[in-house]
Amino acid sequence: MSAQLPDSSGKYDLGFARWVYENIKGGDKLSMCMQCGACSGSCPIGTEMDNGPRKLFMMVRAGMKDEVFRSNTLWNCTSCYRCTVRCPRGIPVTYVVQGLAAQAAHLGYADEKDTVRFARSFWWSVVQFGRTDERMVTAKYYFSFGLKTGMQKGLENLKIAIGMIRKGRMHLGMPHKIADKKGLRAILEKAAEIEARDKQDGNGL
Ligand code: SF4
Ligand code: SF4
Repeated sequence: MSAQLPDSSGKYDLGFARWVYENIKGGDKLSMCMQCGACSGSCPIGTEMDNGPRKLFMMVRAGMKDEVFRSNTLWNCTSCYRCTVRCPRGIPVTYVVQGLAAQAAHLGYADEKDTVRFARSFWWSVVQFGRTDERMVTAKYYFSFGLKTGMQKGLENLKIAIGMIRKGRMHLGMPHKIADKKGLRAILEKAAEIEARDKQDGNGL
């Protein structure tokens, strides 16, 4: 398990930065951040983020644990790595954002977020079929909101689906599966084993 998060009774938890430095991959480099903003300025999704990486890192330093874990920056990052390539201090910005997102999910900050629902649906399809079937991912995602909402969302997008079928962009019929499902299962089991071992050693999230 990763080290226990500091218990914050107030808004600003000064132990949080130390915790991030020690427990998030790449976090040990965060103290090098000089707040130049090259990361946020380079981010193609910056306008969709409530904070952006530069501000997020300042919030880590300020001990704003709840705000950091609730930030939509964690979920809107597409892992394009532009920020990481451009950071003059060599801070692995993407890793830090990903690590904070994983920790936020682990702590239950993100349970109802659309991006997390979508990620779960995506992962479900990978496990079931060995590949992502857009129709199945979409259906799983829509119905994660409940039967009624799922049907509503499906109907709202029916026109798009029909258009895609007509243009040959979406096939009808059973989802394609990979041939070697046994091999896939072995890979997933190994990944779960490594994750569990990392958590036990304190290296994971
Ligand atoms: S580019 Fe690097 S040094 Fe500059 S604000 Fe972002 S993380 Fe900090
Ligand atoms: S990796 Fe994420 S935070 Fe960095 S530039 Fe790309 S989208 Fe923005």
